[in-house]
Amino acid sequence: MIIIMGKTSTQDQLKSVIDWVENHGYQTHVSEGEEVTIVGVVGNGRPIEQYQIERLEGVERTVRILEPYKLTSLDMRPEPTLIPLNGTKVGGKQVVVIAGPCSVESREQILETAKLVKEAGATALRGGAYKPRTSPYAFQGMGLAGLELLAEAKKVTGLPVVTEVMAPEQVTMVAQYADVLQIGARNMQNFNLLHAVGQTNHPVLLKRGMMNTLEELLMSAEHILSCGNSNVMLCERGIRTFERYTRNTFDVNAIPALKARTHLPVIADPSHATGHWQYVGAAALAAVAAGADGLMIEVHPHPEVALSDGLQSLKPDKFADLVVRLRAVAEAVGRTL
Ligand code: PEP
Ligand code: MN
Repeated sequence: MIIIMGKTSTQDQLKSVIDWVENHGYQTHVSEGEEVTIVGVVGNGRPIEQYQIERLEGVERTVRILEPYKLTSLDMRPEPTLIPLNGTKVGGKQVVVIAGPCSVESREQILETAKLVKEAGATALRGGAYKPRTSPYAFQGMGLAGLELLAEAKKVTGLPVVTEVMAPEQVTMVAQYADVLQIGARNMQNFNLLHAVGQTNHPVLLKRGMMNTLEELLMSAEHILSCGNSNVMLCERGIRTFERYTRNTFDVNAIPALKARTHLPVIADPSHATGHWQYVGAAALAAVAAGADGLMIEVHPHPEVALSDGLQSLKPDKFADLVVRLRAVAEAVGRTL
């Protein structure tokens, strides 16, 4: 349930409402917007009726949130959540571009890529140090050495770092290097991991599982928000269908469908969504046209020798050309890039 406070309500009245609700065994989450203050009520407390709350001083009305996700819902917070990143805000007017290799492979590779994507206009650098691979025999990432290289690339270019965390016990350590903690598609429903990132106040990029519905994605975000961290960006990265000409099927519908239900920013990853560098540009342009708040794009200076995802990685010059075209589409839909 959400409680909408009256426009002239006072801080004392807000506090009394919160105390009343918490004394009945619920948790409260206050969202103070420009127009109204909303108190979200979640948890399993003693049964309460809406009229009991509506009789409290300062309360305008109450609304039951029918969706299973509550804190993530647009009802709870009608204004977009803005997440600071490199002097801009993800979820605001600017479409952010997170770019870099699938995996950190060497000092030369990450520094070269970081400089080139920065020159092309990227907002942040991506690169995996801990890699979830289908095969145990494939490159598993450089681990801590990879995180240290990301820190060096950040120092040189000033680009904030987005990198994946795979296990709850890694969160504190990865958070020392990462500006944004990425939860990969395979871990979207690793609830212990969601709780661990929820207990930090680090921004989180939560990728949709390849076999998960949008409601399941929103429920996973709810796990993070319910632990107190609301700095969550959702990421559409393609889902598994019967189609084989592409690695996954890019669900462009996810962008407006999520934005109609949640205040959290929505990022699109056209690299994993298509699996082929030749299609990445078209999917990226479509994502911006559909209202994505940002893109995550794999870029590698030498994709033919990449240790992971070479097939879908753009060469830096192709990425730079794409940024110019993305900017035109962003401007056509009232955004900047
Ligand atoms: C990645 O970003 O390199 C990655 C592993 O993506 P996903 O979790 O979407 O497969
Ligand atoms: Mn990848």
